[in-house]
Amino acid sequence: MIKVIHYLNESTEKPLEVSISEYYDEVLKLLPGLPKTVKIYFSDYGIIAASGVGGYAYSHDIITISIDPDFQDKKKQLKDIRSTIFHEAFHQYQNYTGESGPFTAIENAIYEGMATVFEREHCGIWQPYGDYREVSEDSLKQWLINLKELSLKEFQDTYRQWKFYHPELKERWIVYKVGAWIIDQVLEKQKLTILDLSTKTAADVFKLYEK
Ligand SMILES: [Zn+2]
Repeated sequence: MIKVIHYLNESTEKPLEVSISEYYDEVLKLLPGLPKTVKIYFSDYGIIAASGVGGYAYSHDIITISIDPDFQDKKKQLKDIRSTIFHEAFHQYQNYTGESGPFTAIENAIYEGMATVFEREHCGIWQPYGDYREVSEDSLKQWLINLKELSLKEFQDTYRQWKFYHPELKERWIVYKVGAWIIDQVLEKQKLTILDLSTKTAADVFKLYEK
């Protein structure tokens, strides 16, 4: 179930409540430890142009969700709202939220990678931020080295570049792409599913990767 605690564009958001509530209940079945009711705060933060949707796991029981009222393809947008709810709820389940940080660059990559693979496996969507298929393995390896070298402070000062757009490397979503690439390798090598990783910390998962 959901409880809306803030509207931004009520005429767009209110009609979507029933669907959002259904989507959350679907995740709840997969991850029963989540709160029975999640609070939804509608905002305009972090909308992705390709889907007209943005999401943020604000705290253990609040999801911020942003919906572009002018996005034309409403069917695609609804699909992406569903996968965004899956993604953010996975973060909450793993206690990777705005209230629980800060997290290092590598922890960010691992947690974002897990949530991105979860939405891909359970909603069937390769989100542009997690789609590393067009990226060379050399680049992914180099970015992983870059992320490992960042101190927590350096990452906090520059996280927007690594998470969203790096102006010198001219690349988007480095953290997500490296993360999804690592998670796929862990799942394949260890013969695990993404649900098997749901109860593990980023440090545990990174150890599995380095094994
Ligand atoms: Zn995320």
